[in-house]
Amino acid sequence: MMAGGQWFPFLLLLGFLVRGIHGSAGDADPTYRACVEQCEKTGSVGNVSISHCLFSANDLSVNNTWYMQEPLYLQWKQLNCRSDCCYYCMMQREMERATLGLSPVKYHGKWPFKRIYVFQEPVSAALSALNLMMQFIGWLSFSILVNYKLPLRPYNKRTYYEYTGLWHIFGLLSMNAWFWSTIFHTRDFELTEKLDYSSAVALLGYSLILSLLRTLDVKDEATRVMFAAPILAFVTTHILYLNFYALDYGWNMKVCVVMGMIQLLMWAIWAGMKRHPHRSKLWAVVFGGALAMLLEIYDFPPYYRYVDAHALWHATTIPLTYFWWSFIKSDAEHRTSVLVKKAK
Ligand SMILES: [Zn+2]
Repeated sequence: MMAGGQWFPFLLLLGFLVRGIHGSAGDADPTYRACVEQCEKTGSVGNVSISHCLFSANDLSVNNTWYMQEPLYLQWKQLNCRSDCCYYCMMQREMERATLGLSPVKYHGKWPFKRIYVFQEPVSAALSALNLMMQFIGWLSFSILVNYKLPLRPYNKRTYYEYTGLWHIFGLLSMNAWFWSTIFHTRDFELTEKLDYSSAVALLGYSLILSLLRTLDVKDEATRVMFAAPILAFVTTHILYLNFYALDYGWNMKVCVVMGMIQLLMWAIWAGMKRHPHRSKLWAVVFGGALAMLLEIYDFPPYYRYVDAHALWHATTIPLTYFWWSFIKSDAEHRTSVLVKKAK
């Protein structure tokens, strides 16, 4: 039953090997660097001119204005100027590299993608939006099930299922993470990147707590706090570290892989041992999740400049989300029927 067991240490090891991939060969290239610097000064790359980099005399005189919003507008322009310069220089450099017969390299931790309108990574952005929708649908149908379809406890009108509140928080954190993922893949700025990483870490940390509480059947409030406190403290410190000290991709990847592995293992062992009536759904998510994690680790350059491993990873989470909420709903139904029988 635990045929996938030997995969986990292997995956863990792979996680440690990917360190440094985000160091990015592309943006270390002096030709690329010179291009970006030149572009920011002149506002043009080859025959493309970047309007955001052209500051008129009117724009520059706004520093001494009475109106506080003007400097913000300038900052926004500078941010876009830099982003556009990086994009066009990357495209130019990649074209040169292709004519020399060289394979694509990463720039600032990401593969070179073709933009569609404002969308920097259109496929990942669209898939993130779909994930957001799937999470919303899953959470909504769970809420309807526990509040309207299943019986409530007669004395306090609360659900019989002991994990309702915890799954609501999970739903909200998931939707938050996919929202910021959509924004980040649309426009990659320092701020959107930090928001995306922080939300993803928060979700992963929270789902680790939830996996421990559910698989170990922790129902008592005090014991729940005891489980949650150290993980919450660690995850909070990690998020603060990423935001205010160093956005270290290698270290973050290790933290995420370890937190992901522990919860996959917990669910897998629990499903096997407890003979939960709906364990097949759980198996689907655990094995699907482990395979999906491989995609995130075996990173390959984008096909046709659009679809890379990360985009595919976002595609696999769509069916996984469906199975996951389906499992949560079955778990709620199962626990409720057990508790109702006990009460009678
Ligand atoms: Zn993503």
